[in-house]
Amino acid sequence: MNFDLNDEHLLIEQTAREWAAREVAPRIQQLDRTHTFDRALLPKMAALGLLGVCVPAKYGGAGMDYISLGLACEELEYVDTSLRVILSVHVGLNSLTLLSWGTDAQKQKYLVPQAQGSLIGSYGLTEPAAGSDARGIQTTAEKRGDRYVLNGEKMWISLADVADTFLVIGWTDHAKKKLKDPSGLSAFIVERAFKGFSSGTLTQKWGILAGNTGFFKMDNVEVPEENLVGRQGEGFKIAMFALDQGRLTVAAGATGLLRACRDASVRYANDRKAFGVEIGQHQLVKEMIAQMESDYQASRLLWFRSAWLKNEGRRNTRETGLAKWFATVASERAASDAVQIHGANGYSDEYPVGRFYRNAKGAVIYEGTREIHKLMQADYVLGYRSDKPLRCELPAYGK
Ligand SMILES: Cc1cc2nc3c(=O)[nH]c(=O)nc-3n(C[C@H](O)[C@H](O)[C@H](O)COP(=O)(O)OP(=O)(O)OC[C@H]3O[C@@H](n4cnc5c(N)ncnc54)[C@H](O)[C@@H]3O)c2cc1C
Repeated sequence: MNFDLNDEHLLIEQTAREWAAREVAPRIQQLDRTHTFDRALLPKMAALGLLGVCVPAKYGGAGMDYISLGLACEELEYVDTSLRVILSVHVGLNSLTLLSWGTDAQKQKYLVPQAQGSLIGSYGLTEPAAGSDARGIQTTAEKRGDRYVLNGEKMWISLADVADTFLVIGWTDHAKKKLKDPSGLSAFIVERAFKGFSSGTLTQKWGILAGNTGFFKMDNVEVPEENLVGRQGEGFKIAMFALDQGRLTVAAGATGLLRACRDASVRYANDRKAFGVEIGQHQLVKEMIAQMESDYQASRLLWFRSAWLKNEGRRNTRETGLAKWFATVASERAASDAVQIHGANGYSDEYPVGRFYRNAKGAVIYEGTREIHKLMQADYVLGYRSDKPLRCELPAYGK
């Protein structure tokens, strides 16, 4: 077993770290304070290959492996969650799903420009009345001749007002919709440019404020049948497959956030004095920092394993879910403790830890809530759940 990063890993880690530190870190508190998503970051991320980091070179990507994707996510979230979310949605949920389930024509038309950053992709599963219970969505896709007509509303969608293309899940079978039978769901590529599509930004959100989160509506949107992803009826599998890829990025990103909490806490604990000594010398402060360190190291190993399984082309739903659950819960705890260590200063946005806390909470909700992941892991252990082979898997690295 080898835990060393290779030269390619070290390069992407350093590239993402230096770029985020130089281009974003000095401005992030202001972007967050003013709820500003800086679109100008996208072409810069594309130029560095970040928007196609583990998409094979034959589809316009940087051709790196899934460890590289995770490292990029760690480094971006070290500076701000909003940067990592771009990779989660554009690469994890959308592009990697097209890589596995898309037709050759779909890959040429959408995946190639997405990997190069000239199109931005997003993912629309959640609706106003259904999140965890994905079978409760209401969006319909009715087949009419050589097209599908989509109607419905998607809510809490990352990059809703930014993306050009959306991987959308909806019902193609009305009878199965009534029964909530997931084999009645299908997946589609929907373009913002399609007639009847409209979107908006959620302005009441209190975290990931430098990111864009919103909704989109489809009012008789005509989607050509060649934009059906996979076969009709495979939409639920495709939606869950997409989450397998997104969850690696969330796990790795939360690991970066854990490190950011630890580093900010160490800086403050070495500087702030109480009762005549640096607060880092008080055992209860040490305990919080020790917890951050062990959570950081454990989270890293868990997402490494998930990425390694992906590199090997093996099923990883269980391992990736565990990595996501553990790292996000740990990062929420670390961010809360980082605020605590900063005392009243932590309660002000003069320091970054309040932003870390608000951002950390989101990841305990999206891509499977803490509770859903608990249930999944318990079901694996109890033997109620097992991972069966899918018709389409993520291609092993280099394949
Ligand atoms: C910042 C942000 C970005 C997001 N981006 C996207 C995106 O890009 N695309 C997308 O499709 N969605 C996105 N989402 C939506 C996200 O995936 C959902 O919010 C999530 O799946 C939870 O659904 P919900 O909010 O409807 O909560 P609900 O499903 O209504 O759950 C509410 C509470 O009930 C609990 N609960 C539900 N069912 C059970 C159960 N069986 N057992 C125990 N507890 C249960 C939940 O754990 C939770 O605590 C985003 C959300 C956020 C906050």
